[in-house]
Amino acid sequence: MSDQEELWVADNTQFTGEEGYSHVMDSPTIEDFKTRLRAYHCVRCNLSQEIAQNPTTSRGNTKSSIMLVGEAPGHNEMLQGIPFVGKAGRLMDEIFASAGILTDRDVYVTNICRCRPKDNRAPHVSEASTCISYLQKEIKLLKPKYIIALGATSARYLLEDSLPGKSMAEAVGRFYEAQDYPTSKFFVLYHPAALIYNRSLRPEMDKHIQLLLHELNQSKS
Ligand code: SF4
Repeated sequence: MSDQEELWVADNTQFTGEEGYSHVMDSPTIEDFKTRLRAYHCVRCNLSQEIAQNPTTSRGNTKSSIMLVGEAPGHNEMLQGIPFVGKAGRLMDEIFASAGILTDRDVYVTNICRCRPKDNRAPHVSEASTCISYLQKEIKLLKPKYIIALGATSARYLLEDSLPGKSMAEAVGRFYEAQDYPTSKFFVLYHPAALIYNRSLRPEMDKHIQLLLHELNQSKS
């Protein structure tokens, strides 16, 4: 870690505003991006006012060709600065593990929004549209072959042009292409939190994961 990087980690309130944002967005690698984002006190959207917080980063394999994208962090995620470490995250880990995919080994996990909306509401358009620049930077650095949108918010902001008028029930379990990300193939799944509230979705989710697995295996052969 360079002296400058150590400074970022040591005093995360020292680098704010456009200078801090440029530092994050100029990251040459995913690892640099994570370190710089973790240390940056971002106030680029209203979510920075709702709950005192620094942005969450990501978890998983930074060399994976598969990226999972959720909505926004919850309480546990904000405490740890990492996405999908609460109840929904544990369920996600279990669902993928039952198909042989270990989320910390085989995929890279991130979110559309980096800060927690109060009362876990969905992010507003202005918040998601602002924060998505960090995800776009991750996509540029990681160059994932597959991007899996978890839930309606993720699908909406990643696949806006491909999902006009589609309900979540119609959108899930299908592959998509997106003009903005031409080198990646997209797949939509329910957000694991949806399964906590509606357990009857689990068989469908398992079926969709099998479809995804089939595609991933095909792409290797
Ligand atoms: S949600 Fe994103 S853009 Fe908004 S303050 Fe947090 S990190 Fe910054």
